[in-house]
Amino acid sequence: MAAGAHAVTEPTARAAALSGPQKALRKLGLLRPIDLALHLPLRYEDQTRITPLAQAQPGQTLQLEGTVRSAEVRSGGRRQLQVLLDDGSGCCTLLFFHFSGAQHKALAPGTRIRARGELRHGLFGPTLLHPQWQRAEGELPRSLTPVYPASAGLPQAYLRRAIASALERADLSETVPPQAWADCPGLAGGGLRAALLGLHQPPPEVALASLEDRSHPAWQRLKAEELLAQQLAQWQARQLRAARCAPEMAPLAGGLHAQLLARLPFALTAAQRRVGAEIDADLQRRTPMHRLLQGDVGSGKTVVAALAAARAIDAGWQCALMAPTEILAEQHFGKLIDWLQPLLQVQGRHIAWLTGSQNKGQRTQALAGIHDGRAALVVGTHAVIGEQVQFARLGLALIDEQHRFGVAQRLALRSAREGVEPHLLMMSATPIPRTLAMSHYADLDISSLDELPPGRSPILTKLLSASRRDELLSRLRAQLAQGRQAYWVCPLIEDSEALDLRNAQSTALELAAALEGCAGPTGAPVQVGLLHARLPLAEKKEVMARFCAGQIGVLVSTTVVEVGVDVPNATLMVIEHAERFGLSQLHQLRGRVGRGQAASVCVLLYEPGENGRLGEAARARLRAMLETADGFEIARRDLEIRGPGEFLGARQSGAPMLRFADLEHDAHLLDWARAWAPRLLAEQPQAAQRHIERWLGAKSDFLKA
Ligand code: ADP
Ligand code: MG
Repeated sequence: MAAGAHAVTEPTARAAALSGPQKALRKLGLLRPIDLALHLPLRYEDQTRITPLAQAQPGQTLQLEGTVRSAEVRSGGRRQLQVLLDDGSGCCTLLFFHFSGAQHKALAPGTRIRARGELRHGLFGPTLLHPQWQRAEGELPRSLTPVYPASAGLPQAYLRRAIASALERADLSETVPPQAWADCPGLAGGGLRAALLGLHQPPPEVALASLEDRSHPAWQRLKAEELLAQQLAQWQARQLRAARCAPEMAPLAGGLHAQLLARLPFALTAAQRRVGAEIDADLQRRTPMHRLLQGDVGSGKTVVAALAAARAIDAGWQCALMAPTEILAEQHFGKLIDWLQPLLQVQGRHIAWLTGSQNKGQRTQALAGIHDGRAALVVGTHAVIGEQVQFARLGLALIDEQHRFGVAQRLALRSAREGVEPHLLMMSATPIPRTLAMSHYADLDISSLDELPPGRSPILTKLLSASRRDELLSRLRAQLAQGRQAYWVCPLIEDSEALDLRNAQSTALELAAALEGCAGPTGAPVQVGLLHARLPLAEKKEVMARFCAGQIGVLVSTTVVEVGVDVPNATLMVIEHAERFGLSQLHQLRGRVGRGQAASVCVLLYEPGENGRLGEAARARLRAMLETADGFEIARRDLEIRGPGEFLGARQSGAPMLRFADLEHDAHLLDWARAWAPRLLAEQPQAAQRHIERWLGAKSDFLKA
C-alpha cells in the first residue's frame, strides 16, 4: 500500500470505509490478489452462445436473445410477471414470481435481452422459469462464466471482476521445480498461470464434466499444489520444533518407572510395551516430543501415560497432566495417583491438583509447590495452563482427550525455563484415520494401542425401537437381580421445545418407578442415580463414587459418562435417542461396558422421525455401530459420514484445512506431496517458503508457535 496516501488514516476509519462487498471479501479471507486467484469456481454458466428457440429442446439449459414483446403482471392465482420474448425463430415466456417494480420496468416491450435458464414446456408453451437475464449489449463472452463460492453481500459480478483483476496482478510464478511436476501423476504440462486461467475462464469447448468433478488436469494441478503447501507447512513446523531444545530424560535404574512397573496389578500388553518404547525413545532425545497416543476406549492409555510421567520425574523434571473436565481428571487419574503418590512421598515430593473449583488456599498451596518444584506431577483441568501457573522445571506435558483442547491451549503448556521446551504427549480415544494422519496430522508422530488388555468380553450391540422399552426393562431387571450395574444415557437434561428429547430427570424418575421392588442379590433395593452437567461438582463426585462402589444400580446420565468411567461390573449400556449422537460418541459410550469378565450389551434406542424413518446419516451411524466394534474402523466411517472439516473439530482452527483436495480421491497426489515436501524444503527452501505463504498466508504461523 502507498504509505503516503493513507498515513493519516486511522485503521478504524479505514475499516469503516470498506464497502459492503469489500468487507465480505475480507470475511472470506480473500485479502491478497493471490487469495482471490486461488478462489476457484464451484461451477460454470455458458453465456458464450445463443440458441435459437426453434432449435432448442425442452430440458435444455440455454441462452436466448430476443426482443421483449410484452411484460405483464398477472394476479389471478399466484402473482407473477409474464414476459413474452421473441427471438425471431419463436416466442418464449419468461415467468417471475419474485420481482421488483424496477425489474418490471426494465423489461419494457422493445428491449433486447439475453435470458438464461432451463427450457420447459409450460402452460404458455416454451417457458423459462426465473431466468437470469441482462440487456443484450456488447459481444458474447468468449469463455464460460464462473460461479464462485460467495456469501451474502458479495454479488457474483463483483467477485468475478475482483478475481479477473487479481489474476492479472497476482504473482503466479512457479514455486515447484519441473522435476517435481514431472513426477506428479495425471498432470498436463503448463504452469500455475495456465491452470488458473483454465479454471477461472475455461474455453467453451472444455469437457465441463471434468471441471465439475474436478478431475481435469488443471484441478489436479491445483489440488497437488494445495496438498504440497499443507505438507510443507507441517514439515517446516517439524523442523522448527527439532531445532528447539527439550530435556533428555535418561532412564534411572530402580527409579519410579521401575517401581511403578513392579507395582502394577497386571502385565502390560504387547501394544503398551511397544508404544512405551516409542515414547521412551522420544524422551531420551533433545528435541521435543510431539506425539499422539491413540487407542480405543479401554486400551490402557493411562498406564502408558503414567509410565511416561515416571520417566520424566526420574530424570528430575516435572510432569503436567491435563484433562478436559474435573470428573474426567479424577476418574482417569485416580489410579495413577494411587500408584505414584506413595512412591513420590518417599522422595519428599508430591502430586498437585489444579482445578477451577479449588478454593483460594488450596490453589495457593498448589501453585507454590509447582513453582518451587516439589510438585513432581501436576494433574488438573484447563487450570493447569492458567496464567499464574509457573513450573520450576516442566519437562513433559500429557494431554488427555486432546481433541477437546484447541491448538492454542496445547501450545500454552510451556516450561518456565528459558530455551527448554517440554515434551508433549497427547492422548485420544478417537483414532485418526490413516488419510487424515498423513495429511492434517503430518506434524505429529503417532503411537497406536491396537490391542485391548486380555479378559475383555466382546460387547453385543443391539438396535431397538423406543417403542420396545418394556422388553428392555425386563432385561435390565434381570441384570440388576444378578448384581450387575447399568448406564442409561439421555441426550439432554431439560425438555427442549425444539428437540422434544426425553430428559434425564424424568427418565430417572420413570426408571425408579419401573424398578420398584427390584432387588440385587443381597436383597438391597436397587438405586437409580442421576448425573448431569448442571449438578454441582461435589454432588457429581458423590454420585460417581456411589456408582463405582456398586451402591447405585442404574446410573442415568447425560453424556457426561463419556468421560473415562471405569466400572467393570457395569454390563448394560442403554443409549436413548441414539440416532442423535455422533458416531465416535456412541462408540465411546459403548466402551464404558465390556470392561469385566461378564458378557455386556449395548442397546441403542432410536426414535424415527415424523415420517417414520431415520435420516440417512443417522442410519449410517447406527449401522456402523452394529457392524463393527473396532475403533479404527469406526473412525474411518465417521470421517466418511462427516467429512474432514467436522471430524477435525477444534483442530480446524489450527491445521491448514484443505479446500480443494479430497483425501479419498486424491490419495495419489497426497503421496506425491508427502514424498516431495521434505526434498523441496531441503533443496529449495526459499521457493518452498514462497509456496507456503502463497497458499496459507498468515494461517501457517500457528504451526511455528
Ligand atoms: P483408556 O485407554 O480408555 O484410557 P484406561 O487406561 O482407562 O483405558 O484402561 C482401562 C482399564 O484397563 C483400566 O482399568 C486399566 O487399569 C486396565 N488396564 C490397563 N492396561 C491393562 C493391562 N495390560 N492388563 C489389564 N488391565 C489393564
Ligand atoms: Mg483414558
